[in-house]
Amino acid sequence: MIPYGKQWIEEDDIQAVIDVLRSDYLTTGPKIQEFERTVADYVGAKYAVAIANGTAALHAACFAAGIGEGDEVITTPLTFAASANCVLYCGAKPVFADVDRRTYNIDPGDIRRKITKRTKAIIAVHLAGQPCDLDAIHEIARKHHLLVIEDGAHALGAEYHGKKIGTMSDMTTFSFHPVKPITTAEGGMIMTDDEGYYQKLCLFRTHGITRNKGLLTRDEGPWFYQQLDLGFNYRITDLQCALGCTQMKKLEYFLGKRRRLAKRYDEAFRDHPWIEIPYQLPETVSGWHLYIIQVPECSRRKVFEALQAKGIGVNVHYIPVYYHPYYQEHGYNEVCCPNAESLYEHFISIPLHPGLTEEQQDYIIDSVRESLEILKTS
Ligand SMILES: *Cc1c(COP(=O)(O)O)cnc(C)c1O
Repeated sequence: MIPYGKQWIEEDDIQAVIDVLRSDYLTTGPKIQEFERTVADYVGAKYAVAIANGTAALHAACFAAGIGEGDEVITTPLTFAASANCVLYCGAKPVFADVDRRTYNIDPGDIRRKITKRTKAIIAVHLAGQPCDLDAIHEIARKHHLLVIEDGAHALGAEYHGKKIGTMSDMTTFSFHPVKPITTAEGGMIMTDDEGYYQKLCLFRTHGITRNKGLLTRDEGPWFYQQLDLGFNYRITDLQCALGCTQMKKLEYFLGKRRRLAKRYDEAFRDHPWIEIPYQLPETVSGWHLYIIQVPECSRRKVFEALQAKGIGVNVHYIPVYYHPYYQEHGYNEVCCPNAESLYEHFISIPLHPGLTEEQQDYIIDSVRESLEILKTS
């Protein structure tokens, strides 16, 4: 099976993890800060907080933003459930705004329509690695005094108007799951330029407990620490961060490889009568986390099954979040985002990752074309 996404691990990655195993710190040691600094410098952010996974990063960001009961947070339904679950974790309500038919990202026009007195924040997801229309989103946020959190799980290394994703909103989160732009096995990070958010994020990662003298309400001595808030154990290990550091050295290579493969797919499918290739806004450079094609709704299932039968790891990103039974049973059964729902019926993600060879890709391209031949006869 050719997987739709996969990590790329080399000897130096393996050695870095082994070195940590032989060191004094398996967790909460020097590799955490080194990894945080490396990613912060890469994207140009002031602060970075490495954390257990991308979902924890979103949860922490919502906590730091002060999202709580009675608040509404607007996000896209075309995402992994975690982008909305993080709002529920905080006792607030996710509100789904529809997506733009061309970019598949949240539509600023529909964000405006979904704003109420209770709206507190927008969680913008850069689907497949293509940045959202951040200028429009920030303009809405300024006008309505909303916070903006970017779910950059797909978008480490992606650019908007020549700037790397990770510095443009109140907070930006990343995920380092094996299929994501770089991996730490499990892992995530929150980027911010705001010291206040930074301190809250650090607290949240360690139970709400701190030894920081500047934050303690009193100081009883050198042993002293206090729990100032209700946080979680969302720490990441030094083993993971060591891997993150060596992976960061390869990020530009990964991005280049993904870009070249995406271009080959573009060229192969651009003129195909039944395939829609991903549209790219001129002001964005995608991280190409996913390559999503649209095929006619009537053929999606057949194409999907035919590709699977040929050993090609296809996928659908994503089932609209509110379609899930949990959401349907919790007040979302009347929600309707027509563009997201219709795109979902057309989407197939085909393999794209740094280890994909051109030979494998040619096989995928031929297989996709072949699987669509059925449309000619039916
Ligand atoms: C992967 C992903 C997450 C969650 O990241 P984990 O590290 O798996 O917890 C959140 N949002 C999006 C869009 C993702 O793709």
